Amino acid sequence: MAQYSKIEWTHSTLNLWSGCTKVHEGCDHCYAEALSHRWGNDVWGNDKPRKLTKSAPADLLHFQRTAAQAGKVYRVFVGSMMDIFEKPMPLIDTKGLEVMSEDKPVLTSHLRQRLFEQISQGVYPNLLFLFLTKRETNINKYIPEDWKVNPPSNVMFGASVVNQTTFDRVTENMKAVNGKKFLSIEPQLDFIKLGNLQGIDWIIQGGESGPRKRPFKIEWAYSMRDEAQSLGIPYFFKQIDKIQPVPEDLMIKQFPF
Ligand code: SF4
Repeated sequence: MAQYSKIEWTHSTLNLWSGCTKVHEGCDHCYAEALSHRWGNDVWGNDKPRKLTKSAPADLLHFQRTAAQAGKVYRVFVGSMMDIFEKPMPLIDTKGLEVMSEDKPVLTSHLRQRLFEQISQGVYPNLLFLFLTKRETNINKYIPEDWKVNPPSNVMFGASVVNQTTFDRVTENMKAVNGKKFLSIEPQLDFIKLGNLQGIDWIIQGGESGPRKRPFKIEWAYSMRDEAQSLGIPYFFKQIDKIQPVPEDLMIKQFPF
């Protein structure tokens, strides 16, 4: 298996751009923001531009070629340094200059649209795109019209959840989205009861890591594991905090497809 990402639940990670704006308490210790600042990129906040990832198109073609050669389907997480369903934002290049095309500014929405068009055209038959967002109400706003009725089979829409309040809101909002869907319950900050989870194909759960990590109770994991299993939903336990060892009976790494 080709593994281009340190994130265990995906083979590779794709960022069309880097930069974002915080949405809720799950973003408080956003590692992508910390990394961006360390790299000297001022791309966080509604008043800041996003930075173009120039290598993204070539990276994607490389992932597709590798997966095709192996005769496999590889998962591509979009994106670890951005939110694909963020509102359109201006773009800068590596020199900090505004990205232009035919004298017009290129926006993040143009990159998103181009990727969606390529997926519709079948350019990446060996890639399963995992579009993870904290802005799930924007999914139907920004996907191509025909995806609302007939979503591509190689796309999964994911939404982030951190506590019962976000879980209840997100699962309600995700009912309006067609297609394959998953929940990323990380960093989980409080107990969550899943209840009835119609239409969700995969659950990823994990606690927070890093120097400012907030506590994660192991009983939250056992409760969610049991609920997911009784609902027949593939369940992936990622981590407690990347320091504490994961008990044997929580080493569950199931995938939906
Ligand atoms: S949505 Fe994701 S990338 Fe954006 S600030 Fe929140 S955690 Fe960071």
